Amino acid sequence: MDKQLNMAPCGYFVMKPDGYIIEVNQTFCYMLGASRSQELTGRHIHSILTVASKLYYQTFFTPIMASYKHVNEMYLTFKLQNGDIPVLLNAVEREGRFECVIVHMTLRHEYENDLLQARRNAERMLQETSQAYENLQHLLSEYEEKKQEMLVLNAALQEMTVTDPLTGLKNRRYFQEQLTRYVNQSKKDGTPFSILLIDIDHFKKVNDTFGHPVGDAVLQELAGKLQSETREEDVTARMGGEEFTILLSQMGAEQAQTAAEHIRFNIENGKWFHTPITVSIGVASFRQSDTISSLMSRSDEALYQAKKEGRNRIALK
Ligand code: GH3
Ligand code: MG
Ligand code: MG
Repeated sequence: MDKQLNMAPCGYFVMKPDGYIIEVNQTFCYMLGASRSQELTGRHIHSILTVASKLYYQTFFTPIMASYKHVNEMYLTFKLQNGDIPVLLNAVEREGRFECVIVHMTLRHEYENDLLQARRNAERMLQETSQAYENLQHLLSEYEEKKQEMLVLNAALQEMTVTDPLTGLKNRRYFQEQLTRYVNQSKKDGTPFSILLIDIDHFKKVNDTFGHPVGDAVLQELAGKLQSETREEDVTARMGGEEFTILLSQMGAEQAQTAAEHIRFNIENGKWFHTPITVSIGVASFRQSDTISSLMSRSDEALYQAKKEGRNRIALK
């Protein structure tokens, strides 16, 4: 071997196609930590490769050489006593021998390790990010669910504040809200409306005779009948005790009187589960000079009159 090749700044070795090394330069010896070329010549290349590289060598080097007679930039790792040495190998077949050149690859090896590590980190971060995103989505849908529950709950609460618990009718508060609305509307455009104040006759007797629970059941039964007597646009409410009101939408005095008499008649002649009852009804129709309280007072006076005149009747004021 000439001196220049012997001392070239790359490892050079020659092997037979069966993998036995027959010649090495000094740089190759130096790279593999051999003090004399005889330590390497005569050895099979397998014996100086790492397990992974040996596999790689068998799988790729041998068939590529057989097909193309040369190999470019094959990445292999030689095994040393104190650590491995990654190299880049070029080989060419000449006169039935494989001439090989290797270049030390430590820097690239480290660089690739860094790249690999960076890629692993990126993958981990991506996984963590998508996990966090998934968690966030989960939280969002939970929040959305809770929000819906809250809305339903709020609507139920809202309904409770305007509902009479015993009868399920609207309560006094709702009636007063609606009355204000009706008064304002009527003052604006003259739309007529009337109110009926309904009170059970001698209800005390029902309680005294059948007991309070039956009294409650009768109140519930009456509530059902009143509700079925009125239209969708009317407001039927329990004012408290055995007193009810109906806000008759778009009805003047005459129509309201007819409606009241109709209701009274049906209650008197209807079927009752526990005991029949009758009611007295005070009718008052809204006048432009009215306030809420003057209208309510007139319906009160009308009811009082109906009671005074013998009950089970209606009176208009
Ligand atoms: P009037 O014909 O003059 O209206 O006689 P009344 O007995 O109906 O009148 P009064 O106001 O003297 O009595 C009303 C009764 O209604 C008294 C009370 O015990 C009863 N009452 C009020 N609220 C309830 C209730 O929620 N349940 C029951 N069972 N009774 C009630
Ligand atoms: Mg009463
Ligand atoms: Mg009564």
